[in-house]
Amino acid sequence: MIEFKHVNKTYSKKGQSIDALKDVSFQVNKGDIYGVIGYSGAGKSTLIRLVNQLETTTSGDVIVDGENINQYSKSELRRARKHIGMIFQHFNLLETKTVFNNVAIPLYLIGTPKEEIKERVHAMLEFVGIGDKAKQYPKELSGGQKQRVAIARALITRPKILLCDEATSALDPATTEQILSLLKKVNNEFDITILIITHEMSVIQQICDKVAVMENGELIEHGSVKQVFSQP
Ligand code: ADP
Ligand code: ADP
Repeated sequence: MIEFKHVNKTYSKKGQSIDALKDVSFQVNKGDIYGVIGYSGAGKSTLIRLVNQLETTTSGDVIVDGENINQYSKSELRRARKHIGMIFQHFNLLETKTVFNNVAIPLYLIGTPKEEIKERVHAMLEFVGIGDKAKQYPKELSGGQKQRVAIARALITRPKILLCDEATSALDPATTEQILSLLKKVNNEFDITILIITHEMSVIQQICDKVAVMENGELIEHGSVKQVFSQP
């Protein structure tokens, strides 16, 4: 579903160049919950931004759902992004909009009929466990509830891939566990491939099937969670 082939990414800043990714190759299969773990600065955000085409590679290819997204035009990109949902550490909700409208926005943008929006948003809010919060505003919600809104918004267009960028890093351990089991339910019921980047080993151990370990821009190991973290 996602394939990196010899990907290099170099940023230049004030005449200096930083190699954020060095010859990174790996593959995420359809239906995987795939974790990428590494310390700050390892290159994890760069990797996820390449999947979502917020950055382009310096060399090498990123193939998403069978298509090389490096060669996309702007309109093809807009179409492709609809198949990718994303959630973040700080939720990125619109504070002036209700929960309902936060989740409905992606559907408004693609011209979905009003009645259908209503049905789908309410069903999705039920699914993520906040069916009673439609009329509330983000500031009235707990961190875990806000992340549920963000998950609902990411899924409402029925993407094939969900990208999670440190999505539980702002949550306490108990809430983290609840959000991770919700992600597991999403993976099971909707057949969505999930790519998680995190610096927390516990996240990888709780829900990932496979893991890649990053260090200084290099992918130093990858495989099943059991393989990679079993003691020799
Ligand atoms: P992580 O998400 O693992 O913390 P990043 O992908 O954010 O890692 O960063 C990898 C390296 O690339 C770091 O050295 C970081 O400083 C650098 N970097 C990231 N984004 C930029 C940018 N826009 N311009 C210059 N350097 C960047
Ligand atoms: P329906 O096909 O009638 O919408 P489903 O049982 O397939 O019902 O889905 C139940 C809920 O899950 C609905 O809110 C639907 O919008 C949502 N849903 C279904 N498939 C996906 C998907 N791939 N990604 C995100 N949400 C989905």
